[in-house]
Amino acid sequence: MAETAPDSSRVVIENCAIATVDAEDTEYASGHLVINDNRIESLGAGPAPEGLTHVTRRIDGTGHLLTPGLVNTHHHYYQWLTRGLATDSNLFNWLVALYPTWARIDEEMVHAAARGSLAMMVRGGVTTAMDHHYVFPRGSGDLLGAEIRAAAELGVRFTAARGSMDRGESDGGLPPDFAVETTEGALKATEAAIDTYHDASFGSMLHIAVAPCSPFSVSTELMRQGAELARRKGVRLHTHGSETAEEEKFCHELFGMGPTDYFESTGWLGEDVWMAHCVHMTDADIAAFGRTKTGAAHCPSSNARLGAGIARVPDMLEAGVPVGLGVDGTASNESGELHTELRNALLVNRLGPHKENALTVRQSLRMGTYGGAQVLGRAQETGSLEPGKLADAVLWKLDGIGHSSIADPVAALVLGAAAPVTLSFVNGKPVVENGRLLNADEDEIARGARDESRRLARIAAQAG
Ligand SMILES: [Zn+2]
Repeated sequence: MAETAPDSSRVVIENCAIATVDAEDTEYASGHLVINDNRIESLGAGPAPEGLTHVTRRIDGTGHLLTPGLVNTHHHYYQWLTRGLATDSNLFNWLVALYPTWARIDEEMVHAAARGSLAMMVRGGVTTAMDHHYVFPRGSGDLLGAEIRAAAELGVRFTAARGSMDRGESDGGLPPDFAVETTEGALKATEAAIDTYHDASFGSMLHIAVAPCSPFSVSTELMRQGAELARRKGVRLHTHGSETAEEEKFCHELFGMGPTDYFESTGWLGEDVWMAHCVHMTDADIAAFGRTKTGAAHCPSSNARLGAGIARVPDMLEAGVPVGLGVDGTASNESGELHTELRNALLVNRLGPHKENALTVRQSLRMGTYGGAQVLGRAQETGSLEPGKLADAVLWKLDGIGHSSIADPVAALVLGAAAPVTLSFVNGKPVVENGRLLNADEDEIARGARDESRRLARIAAQAG
């Protein structure tokens, strides 16, 4: 074992089951993992090698499963303040019901909402988070900065997708005019966010993506120029795509083509693009995604909550489409948890045409980890447990009442009750221990979210 620099330190985890989610799906019934500073140094079967120096912590993982940290690929944190509303609506009616309230958000509200959203995910094993924020009412403060601050406070790796809307009601769009920006204003602010925040280095804690909201809230010009901006700056592109039958109809009426053809015509297919939902996809659409390596963020709970339909995940995987999992905004997925999406992705897809062959428990885990890292452009760094990769890992407790009698630990994690997190590491640093956040006070976050949610409701009622 090579000697390390004097300031490095090692953490050893052993006696746990390990699902590495590497290319061969290597697993160990009882193995070890050695973290050196912020990287995975080694892992394998049995106990850790003897003679390791600078070991600052040795963790007995008996009764646990160690996996890569979960990666969330789609979310809208501000919605944490408007959960449980329009509970029986489809997407378009739900949007129309909520836009007037969303148009009243401010920096303080978004910070509280981001802390709530992030707390829920980090507590459930997310080590790489993302947010797609697209509502920037005039004079509302630094909303993107507020969520970036919240992610840093919780210690999680983060992709902030700077969204935008410039197609208000008067231009045939869905959002009210006062909730949209000008095309030029949106592009300028997005470029400024990239220049200010985007860190492209290995192990970066913060990426920015260019993320106009959706075909029905964004002009063709903003789509085109957004794609050009992203490619000029070398950042990724994200938007909503093919979420509902209504959106498909809207695209045909307005553009004379379906969503995927529209995306292609505006420069929005490519290996640097990932799209939320991808529910209403034809065979040709899926083939185009596969050919161009355009990624998908599968959000099964949100799709079910809004009655949007079942994304054709098995067909996408078959076609070579990179697929990650997404919570989506919590106004359409109130639980706000990603680890339960492992289960929901499997169950929802088995209700589709592929039935029991739709997805395996290991494919579900892969989508929630490596697949997510792929669509966020970080598969070289995180998403699997391999020497040299970042130490983003979760130790799931499987010896409690919920899981102790399930023979296969991966099946226990995916099909069983939401497993408690004994330890979660981001960049080699623990962020959760015994189910509690280490970098924030959950009760304080809950109070802040409640207060800001009430303030938003009050302001929206006065304005309405
Ligand atoms: Zn969404």
